[in-house]
Order: sequence, then structure tokens, then C-alpha cells
Amino acid sequence: MDALPEFRVLSPKTLDDVVAARAAHPDSKPLGGGTDLVVNIRRGIVAPPVLIDMNRVQELHAIKADERGLQIGSSVRLSEVAEHADVVKLYPVVAQAAAHIAGPTHRNMGTVGGNLCLDTRCIFYNQSEWWRDANNHCLKTTGTICHVAPKSRGVCFATFSGDLAPALLTLGAEVDIAGPQSRRTIPLNKLYIGFARQDVPITETQGDGKFYLSLRPGEIVTAVRAKNTPGLRSGYDKIRIRRSIEYPVAGVAVALKREGAKLADLRIAFTGTNPRPVLLDGTQALCGGPLDERVFKGLDALVRDQIMPMKTTFTPGHYRRRVAGVLARRLLTRLFES
Ligand SMILES: Cc1cc2nc3c(=O)[nH]c(=O)nc-3n(C[C@H](O)[C@H](O)[C@H](O)COP(=O)(O)OP(=O)(O)OC[C@H]3O[C@@H](n4cnc5c(N)ncnc54)[C@H](O)[C@@H]3O)c2cc1C
Ligand code: SF4
Repeated sequence: MDALPEFRVLSPKTLDDVVAARAAHPDSKPLGGGTDLVVNIRRGIVAPPVLIDMNRVQELHAIKADERGLQIGSSVRLSEVAEHADVVKLYPVVAQAAAHIAGPTHRNMGTVGGNLCLDTRCIFYNQSEWWRDANNHCLKTTGTICHVAPKSRGVCFATFSGDLAPALLTLGAEVDIAGPQSRRTIPLNKLYIGFARQDVPITETQGDGKFYLSLRPGEIVTAVRAKNTPGLRSGYDKIRIRRSIEYPVAGVAVALKREGAKLADLRIAFTGTNPRPVLLDGTQALCGGPLDERVFKGLDALVRDQIMPMKTTFTPGHYRRRVAGVLARRLLTRLFES
């Protein structure tokens, strides 16, 4: 086990003080539960000199779920989300996704903000310093090539693996952001920019596994919100290697509406596959008829087109893509027939 390097922890009590502290310490990192960040510090992957503890700011702990909508502050614990009676009842996809994250102790510490802003993962990155050093590091840290795709021309394919984001994407969620320049609200989908394309330069809207969030310097996520859609049935499922405590091989969130025998609305989002959570494009074209082979074949084609088969985890990329497709089919069928 590597020793933790020196760092300072600041604990502001208001949001304005958090923003001021971030501005005063440009190399700082926001600290939620630390269940990912501290692991990465210990491994020498990141070395922020200052951590800004977000947990003392009261307004970031609010959680509200009713017939009109869902609002969750960024410092709300994952266990609170998983067990909140109104979230369980009205937004089951969100409660189920939270309940699938890591193990009980992580969920008691881990926060919604930390989960939404979770670092991307790769077998060549989530390793000790000496292991990475022995492999000459890689693009995501200080190296010059990508070991997953040596011809990637500067692009990193590290995978986004947070479970909450796909669930919230199926609800059309938005995130509130605070920073030194302004406060703003953007669609959650626009927070994630890990498109990993080799034909376009990295910008604020087109990133990869290294530049995966559209947050500007000093910005933090303060809350996530979604409107209620009456009649929506939703759920979350994932496959992981260790069932009790593990990142997803693939995770899927499905939200649908059924009108009589017809599929009237369909939203499907994945995690654990691409450098961003993927809200599948094209699912509306599958609606309007019964849940039949036409829908399943269409779904398979969308998964084939949009889910990446890069080998960034222990499982082969193609296997992950197949798992994603099978999980989506199963969950879609279960929700439609429920
Ligand atoms: C063994 C193990 C298994 C795990 N399994 C899963 C899993 O199955 N699914 C899963 O999703 N995760 C998993 N995790 C990762 C982690 O526990 C969770 O994702 C957790 O929700 C992270 O939240 P946190 O508050 O601890 O984040 P932190 O570690 O505090 O922060 C994570 C990142 O987000 C940034 N950050 C934190 N808060 C904010 C904010 N408000 N605004 C902007 N940036 C912010 C931090 O600077 C850091 O870069 C696992 C971790 C371990 C150790
Ligand atoms: S995908 Fe490539 S560059 Fe990115 S973390 Fe993995 S090995 Fe490194």
C-alpha cells in the first residue's frame, strides 16, 4: 500500500466560500466522500495540494422527491438516495442505481456529486504508481501513448463507470453548477463530453477518457434535478464481476411508457462502456407498436453503433457490449410486462 502524500483539507460552510476556496486554490479538488478521490491520491494518480471538503455546506444536503420532480444536492449520500421512500416510489431508476453502487460502507460515504463527477477508469490507469511506472504510464497521466489503443493519436478511451448518471439521463435531468464566473444549469447529458473521437480536437464540448467533464476551472456540481413524467416505468440493472461490491461491466437504465399494448416512450442509458454515460440515440423510433422483434433488433443495432468495444477493463470489450445489449433487452421486457 502506498502512503498518502501531504495535502490540506479546507472545510467551508457556505457555497460562496466553496467557490472562493476553489478560485483561491486552482489545483484543488472538491472532496465528497473521498471513496474514489482518496484511492486515486494514494495511488499517485492525482496529487491535489488542497481538498475542498463539500460536506459542511448545509444547502448541498437537501433531497426532495414528489409528484412534480426530484432534486438532490451534491453532498447527499448514496445510501440516502437508495433508501429515500419517495425516490424509491416515484423515481425507482435512481434509487435502484444508487443501491447498486459499490458496497454499503461506500454508499454511506459516497456522495451524489462525487458519483456524477467520478473519474473515468481503465486497467492501465487504476493501478499503483510502480505498476504504471513499469509500463511507462499512459496518456491519461504522464505517458505518451494509450496502451489500450496504441494508434489512438492522443485519444484516451478510459471508461465512465458511475451508476447514477445513466439513471438520471433517462429522466432528462439537469445539473446545477457553481463556479467563480457564474452559476449555471445544463442538461446532465452536456456534463459528459467523453466522445473519444480521433477526428476532432479536444474542446469544451468534445472530449475523451481524459477530458470527460465539461466543468470549467473552479466549477463544482451543486445539485441534480429532474421533472416527473407521469406514467413512466423505470429501473436499473447491472452486471459486475463481484456482485456485492463492484463497478459495472455494464450498467443499464431503462424508462418507458406503455399505452395499452403499445410501447409509447423509451429511454435507455448505459454506463461502464464508453468514456461517458450513453443515452442511446434513436429509441423513439422504436416506439409506437408492440414490444416485438422489431424493437429488439432495432435496439441491438443502436447498441452496436453507440456502445464502444474498447478493452479498458478485465472483460473483453465485445463481451461488455453484448452484456449491455442483453441487460437492456431483459430490463425493457420486465418493465413493459410489469
Ligand atoms: C471498491 C469500490 C467499488 C466501487 N464501485 C462503484 C460502483 O459500483 N459504481 C459506482 O458508480 N462507483 C463505484 N465506486 C466509486 C465510488 O465509491 C462512488 O462512485 C462514489 O459515489 C464516489 O463518490 P464520492 O463522494 O466518494 O466521490 P469522491 O471520491 O469524493 O470524488 C470523486 C470525484 O468527483 C469530484 N467531485 C466530488 N464532488 C464533486 C462536486 N460536487 N462537483 C464536482 N466534482 C466533484 C472529486 O474531486 C473527484 O474527482 C467504487 C469504489 C470502490 C473503492
Ligand atoms: S484508455 Fe489508454 S490513455 Fe486512457 S487510461 Fe487506458 S491506457 Fe491510458
